[in-house]
Amino acid sequence: MQVIPPALERLITDLTRLPGIGRKTATRLALYILRRPAAEARNLADDLMTLHATIHLCNQCFTFSETDPCVICGNPTRDPRLVCVVEEPGDQIAIEKTGAFRGTYHILHGVIAPMDGIGPEELKIRELQHRVASGRVDEVLIATSSTVPGEATASYLAEILRETKIRISRLACGIPMGMDIKYADEHTLAKAIESRQALNDSF
Ligand code: ZN
Repeated sequence: MQVIPPALERLITDLTRLPGIGRKTATRLALYILRRPAAEARNLADDLMTLHATIHLCNQCFTFSETDPCVICGNPTRDPRLVCVVEEPGDQIAIEKTGAFRGTYHILHGVIAPMDGIGPEELKIRELQHRVASGRVDEVLIATSSTVPGEATASYLAEILRETKIRISRLACGIPMGMDIKYADEHTLAKAIESRQALNDSF
């Protein structure tokens, strides 16, 4: 006998598709939503519905944004010639919080991970090459995480950009090995940006 009403079951199944949410947590969340006033559920549904309609990728840096260019690319006080390359929008948020970076960004939307079938073509790497080839960039600061895939991606980027003669730098030590940069504290991250290290001799 089916104890859970089908509409509730559908919501539970949808919630289990979210990262880190197992069936037990999904059931708890679904029951919570059900017990709250209907207006709250409608708000949540409205927010989900408008998400894809209003948020797009910025055509320059590929972050999620309601405007194109995004607020950072469109800000005349930011230096478009210094480009910080990060894995995810969450990493960009972490760096912005430090207030130590006045350049612009390039979001890869992942890291090279052959075991998971993610090669350079799956990321915004060609777009980075185009950006650099346009002659509007002086320095690329590679701020991928110090995890194995993050380091592999950094090496790959340094290699393909080597010919371009622009400055290529990497976040300095201080970020522990294996650490995702969005979990680094603001002070450590600010220091790592300030004392970034050159990966080529264009400095
Ligand atoms: Zn942008």
